Amino acid sequence: MTDEYLFISDCHLDASRPEVTDALTVFLQQQASTAHCLYILGDLFEVWLGDDATFELSPILAALQQIAKNTEVYFIAGNRDFLLGENFATQAGLSIVTEPLSIELGGQAVLLIHGDSLCTDDHDYQEFRKMVRDPLWQSTFLSKPLTERQQIAAQLRQDSVAAMAQKSMQIMDVNQQAVDACFRTQSVDIIVHGHTHRPAIHRYPDNNTRYVLGDWNPGPSYLSWREDQGFKLVDSRVP
Ligand code: MN
Repeated sequence: MTDEYLFISDCHLDASRPEVTDALTVFLQQQASTAHCLYILGDLFEVWLGDDATFELSPILAALQQIAKNTEVYFIAGNRDFLLGENFATQAGLSIVTEPLSIELGGQAVLLIHGDSLCTDDHDYQEFRKMVRDPLWQSTFLSKPLTERQQIAAQLRQDSVAAMAQKSMQIMDVNQQAVDACFRTQSVDIIVHGHTHRPAIHRYPDNNTRYVLGDWNPGPSYLSWREDQGFKLVDSRVP
């Protein structure tokens, strides 16, 4: 066991991309099994239609159950898997936590979020987010038969793809004022998030740093923290 903290997001696990499932399974079995904590910052799954929906995740579930014996695993919902519930969490041995989550590492305050809340230029998306994060909308959706949930999800996805094609890259990135406000109102030194699929380390005045986790296509992307090392972003796209 080490004092390592690991952070991942945006694996978008899906039956159509078995190589990502394989890469994550290896990551869980190797890096994560000896870590103190693993934080999953959303969009672990490409889509989550309820804990009763079948999905070919047996290797991931087995790997999560295995590491949960030694490693604390936390999950923050993304915009794809916000319906992941307590049934699955209990089965997988992870704890669902709500964002924003603030933790302390090496004397620094670190804020953990999925990242979509910072994309404030995308007004349509923020409206959509408000709708689907409403507990009443969620319970109504989850009470529908699975086939109906699949149809609704497919329609929402189609609408989203069509809308994204019309939006500029800038609109879909974080808004800098929202980032500044987040550092200020949450009184943190560091923000860690995913969602934008633009892995990077952004350094700001006052020693503030924003680590952006990448998606897992083409390969693993994770942030590591250890007392003797500090933060290290591991991603083939970041020097
Ligand atoms: Mn996302």
